[in-house]
Amino acid sequence: MASQEWLEKDFYAILGVPQDASKKDIERAYRKLARELHPDHNPDPAAENRFKGVSEAYSVLHDDKARKEYDQIQLMKSGRGGFGGMHGGGMPGGGGVNFEDLFGSPGASGGFGDLFGDLFRGGGAHRRRSGAQRGNDLRTHITLDFADAVKGTTTEIRMRAPGECDTCHGSGAKPGTAPSTCARCGGRGLVTENQGAFSFAQPCPECEGTGTVVTDPCVECGGTGATTKDRIITVRVPVGIGDGQSIRLAGRGAPGERGGPAGDLLVKVAVRTHPLFARDGDNVTVRVPVSFPEAAMGAKVKVPTLDGPVTLRIPEGTPTGRVLRVKGRGVPGKGDLLVTVDVEVPQALSAEAREALEKYAAAAPAADRSKLEELTGQ
Ligand SMILES: [Zn+2]
Ligand SMILES: [Zn+2]
Repeated sequence: MASQEWLEKDFYAILGVPQDASKKDIERAYRKLARELHPDHNPDPAAENRFKGVSEAYSVLHDDKARKEYDQIQLMKSGRGGFGGMHGGGMPGGGGVNFEDLFGSPGASGGFGDLFGDLFRGGGAHRRRSGAQRGNDLRTHITLDFADAVKGTTTEIRMRAPGECDTCHGSGAKPGTAPSTCARCGGRGLVTENQGAFSFAQPCPECEGTGTVVTDPCVECGGTGATTKDRIITVRVPVGIGDGQSIRLAGRGAPGERGGPAGDLLVKVAVRTHPLFARDGDNVTVRVPVSFPEAAMGAKVKVPTLDGPVTLRIPEGTPTGRVLRVKGRGVPGKGDLLVTVDVEVPQALSAEAREALEKYAAAAPAADRSKLEELTGQ
């Protein structure tokens, strides 16, 4: 099914075949690219995007009917049909026919009129085609130690990714040279074509609407301004990031096209568990074993934190499971350390300890179990 994107995409270039390629050639080109780019064989996230593009190109060009439609759209777009002129009415020197009058008016009869009307009414086609395009977002992931996630850190990731060419810094021009003003459109990025009574402005085919052309291309990137290679990217991890959250690095994704901004890099974070500490939102939690005498009589115990130990006062008569708060020892500036008191029952007693406990039992009140009987009659 024809879609708006067909206007903007060069399926032949994506598959690397000429426009008169046979069905066999198209199949061969597709199989080769699919082998190269399939996500199962190629971990590069950019390859996955290309794989999708290649699959789409193949699905259209391999289908005789779809290919014919696509070719006709491309033919119209290439100037013979004056497709750039959505805003044609206002362009200088022309009869001023609005595009909608030609194809898109309500109730127009079927065939190509409807198809093109739909394509354009979808909106944005003209803007996207003639102007800059934002690069794709890229995705990767990192694993952080527990403490680094709590306190924030700066880390480096290595990834194979497209990005600005280091040699020409994205201009596409050989160092020491600069892109020159496009002679065909005089730097406007638009050319006007007269078609009998109509006049259309369309993106300059010479400079693809950018207004400049690279006459002396950078050898490193072949004039595209972008190269794909192993890159080291510095990631600043904010304090308190949680397992499964993502960090967005604006502008570190794939470079834009025709002067468009780069996409973003989304870094998904996994946080390693800690043998002692855990998280409760911005609070850090820890469990601390306390003996029965300490819980009963009160005590001062040393409690570890992510920034060295603190002394915690256990109040007299603290029951097991009680949570005590150490201010400011959670996520910096945001949370506390929550200490859960675990009152320990000894698994084995020395003779001396047993004797002392028997003395204690004789002196202390027995556990109050009166409620059990009161509430159940048992
Ligand atoms: Zn370059
Ligand atoms: Zn131009």
